[in-house]
Amino acid sequence: MAYKIKSTSVLKELMRDYFQRIGQREKPLAWCTSVGPAELLRSFGFEVYFPENHGALLGATRTAGSNIPAAMKCGYSGDICSYTTSDIGAFLNQSTPLKTQYGLDGIPRPDLLVYNTNQCREVEDWFHFYADRFNCSIAGIHPPRHLHSIRAAEIELVTAQFKRILPLCEQISGQKFDLDAFREVLQLSSEATLLWQQVLRTAMASPAPLSFFDGTIHMGPIVVLRGTVEAKTYYAELLQELQENIAAGRGFLQQESCRLFWEGMPIWGKLRALSDLFVQNDAAVVASTYCNSWIFDAFNEKEPFESSARAYTEIFINRSEQAKFTMLQKWIEDYRIDGVIFHDAKTCFNNSNARFGMPLRLKNKLGIPSITIDGDLCDLRFYSEGQSITKIETFIEQIQNQKSFI
Ligand code: SF4
Repeated sequence: MAYKIKSTSVLKELMRDYFQRIGQREKPLAWCTSVGPAELLRSFGFEVYFPENHGALLGATRTAGSNIPAAMKCGYSGDICSYTTSDIGAFLNQSTPLKTQYGLDGIPRPDLLVYNTNQCREVEDWFHFYADRFNCSIAGIHPPRHLHSIRAAEIELVTAQFKRILPLCEQISGQKFDLDAFREVLQLSSEATLLWQQVLRTAMASPAPLSFFDGTIHMGPIVVLRGTVEAKTYYAELLQELQENIAAGRGFLQQESCRLFWEGMPIWGKLRALSDLFVQNDAAVVASTYCNSWIFDAFNEKEPFESSARAYTEIFINRSEQAKFTMLQKWIEDYRIDGVIFHDAKTCFNNSNARFGMPLRLKNKLGIPSITIDGDLCDLRFYSEGQSITKIETFIEQIQNQKSFI
């Protein structure tokens, strides 16, 4: 019988309720970047909407391609972030999968826009487009980038930036800042993120009960609902199911001929096809930088500002090549990885890590082979399916041959 994660039905309900709540507009609405200060916003009673999640939805439903040209006509290059161009294009075309999938009239109008450039500068431009269109207040956090280590001075700087947005949040939400409310939301977010970490770590088992491709679906709540009871409850339930599967020896692939790591953005419009391709070749893709990017283990409600500043500044995408190497090495060891697939996303150089010698360093220092697949998160014009399949199958075969000689 095909392997299925039963909690997926709960996940679907949870995401539907979230979007319907947003559509009902009973609370003020803040838009936030995916690794922006969601907890702080929730502590003011904002409902929080994440345009990157919408970008992923446009990619997954393969509607990005029909919307990107509208953004290009408006002056946005087809070479910049295709979350940005597909989202802006969809707005200009007044089209969104939120209508058909969740019954919303369109994307929800923001009362406040808050971004964090910890991931890229693109989000700042993206959010400013909407600030102009909706004549809406906007605030940003601009941490130092590409850090080797995180020092006290950096935490102090980012903490001050977090505190600087408080008056605007008070003005728009109509609520005074409440430190206890912030601590409470952060505590919930911390619990959810640690449960999400445990969920991902179940894939250290063989057979693994969760693939990278499953992870991209089940990460929904840790992106859009962190800081809520629902997210925490969901991950506790999912974790329990996956642990039961490990105990029963059930995995998405009963015989793993090799264990692989996915580095970089998902190719949203090809998730199913890629997942099937790896499974057909008995290759288990068990871990990724992407899914691990929503583990914020520095959260500490006793120091809510400082720990938020640290957690959101020390993320993988915001680190130096050396720090990224150390993080990759740990994942490769923990998950017993045989090879790495680098996805070089044409429109997101921020989250493509094959361009500064990382594949060669992994080979020379750890003996880990890799391949680089050209593609994109949303814009499928940059992805050649035939070429990629050949490359992936040859890579898997080489790893399998090497392993059979050990
Ligand atoms: S990190 Fe990449 S995909 Fe994400 S918003 Fe920035 S440019 Fe776009």
